[in-house]
Amino acid sequence: APIILWMRRDFRLTDNPAMHWAAEQGRPVIPVFILDEVVETWGAAPLWRAGLGLATLSERLEDIGSRLMLRRGRAIDVLRDLRVETGADTVVWNRLYVADERARDTEVKEALRDEGTEARSFQAHVLFEPWTVQTGAGGFYKVYTPFWKAVRDRDLGRPLPPVEALAAPDAWPASDDLNAWNMGRAMRRGADVVADHVHVGELAARDRLVDFIETKVDDYATARDMLAVDGTSGLSENLTWGEIGIRECWFAGQKALHDGKGDAEVFLKELVWRDFAHHLAYHTPRLTTENWRPEWDAFPWQGDGADAEAWRRGLTGIDVIDAAMRELYVTGRMHNRARMLVGSYLTKHLMTHWRIGCDWFADTLIDWDPASNAMGWQWVAGSGPDASPYFRIFNPDTQAEKFDPKAVYRRRWLEDDAFFDAVPRSWAIGPDSRPEEPIVGLALGREQALAAYQQRDAE
Ligand code: FAD
Repeated sequence: APIILWMRRDFRLTDNPAMHWAAEQGRPVIPVFILDEVVETWGAAPLWRAGLGLATLSERLEDIGSRLMLRRGRAIDVLRDLRVETGADTVVWNRLYVADERARDTEVKEALRDEGTEARSFQAHVLFEPWTVQTGAGGFYKVYTPFWKAVRDRDLGRPLPPVEALAAPDAWPASDDLNAWNMGRAMRRGADVVADHVHVGELAARDRLVDFIETKVDDYATARDMLAVDGTSGLSENLTWGEIGIRECWFAGQKALHDGKGDAEVFLKELVWRDFAHHLAYHTPRLTTENWRPEWDAFPWQGDGADAEAWRRGLTGIDVIDAAMRELYVTGRMHNRARMLVGSYLTKHLMTHWRIGCDWFADTLIDWDPASNAMGWQWVAGSGPDASPYFRIFNPDTQAEKFDPKAVYRRRWLEDDAFFDAVPRSWAIGPDSRPEEPIVGLALGREQALAAYQQRDAE
């Protein structure tokens, strides 16, 4: 009987354990992507970017004699229908760890097994599954450095080779048409602009990894902080859709380390930050929605008002903040340091709830990763487990002088007209829309935030 291969965030043929297992069984395999109850909640940019990834994956599958089926509906209903239509008796997938994905997968696994269908899942999306890393006391890690020390010397083995053939069923079941799903519908004008900045698919991802190891890793520790320098791998976009396996990146980083390439260990540490985010999201599912430290529930966070809107539109009047918000809108990405700066300005100077920033990123990032995004925001806001303390408030101007000394990054994004082409016309933004004075000045914002913080602790 055929095997259903349920594809979710694993748009690749190499080091894809579920696909690998299915291929080895010598039975027909039916790969399917489901526009299900979790996917329906994704923001505009992730949904659009996933659509590009699916188109490429579909071609890759055709190269190995297979096809990608597309279905829409609740995951369990779709899988049941497919089972009946195709006579499949097995469903396989690679595991995910964030709350809504886990809830869906648990339901699916239990229902299928109750009905006598074999349901098998595999590790692929992280280096170290959350339950395999435990503190001496048997709990989970809340601080990054001990987590890193616990995992850094583990042997992960070699990534699996690419699957070279998947047997087709006698007849393919019906599939939706990807274009009819119109996954870019919420992007409107923005899609054409962001399209210039994407690197879609497994082959593009591998090129990025090779280029990074050959030309960038040597100087990574310093270059990664410089706003105008293209000094990082850019792989987050591909890792989040599984267009490259995290193990392949780890393996390349380890090899670079052994070859004596300067900053390879710093790169490995960053890969482990991604794992740490999944570790936290698994052990405390509320990471993605609520203050990880409940004492923050009492903080007088501002809601979604004019300040938040000005921040989203890059109209705060602070050059580096507005430049970064434009970078985000135009490219679907933002430099890591800039993410910290815009996060700090929003949650501290504007005292706006981190969730509002987290939601905006979830709507605009093509590398949106529910675990890393939530961890990043809670870290910036001070409400997370291993967070930067709230009273450590970045001064965006000083940071810009240090990490963008010649103002190249600021000019690049503040003078680029692509932003005006990308934003909704209703924003009515033009080159002169930015305020001359910051909406909340740096000194005042800092004072207000610190006063509110002290007040919170006094109460
Ligand atoms: P590189 O510097 O080349 O790093 C290699 C890989 O390590 C990345 O691709 C990523 O998978 C991982 N990594 C690096 N830094 C981090 C980090 N701080 N946390 C978790 N993983 C990391 N990253 C996302 O992938 N998706 C998000 O939605 C996301 N939201 C963020 C929100 C905020 C507020 C902050 C402060 C950070 C966020 N990050 C997020 C982390 C980080 O900014 C990006 O992973 C990084 O900028 C991606 O660029 P790169 O691939 O060139 O990274």
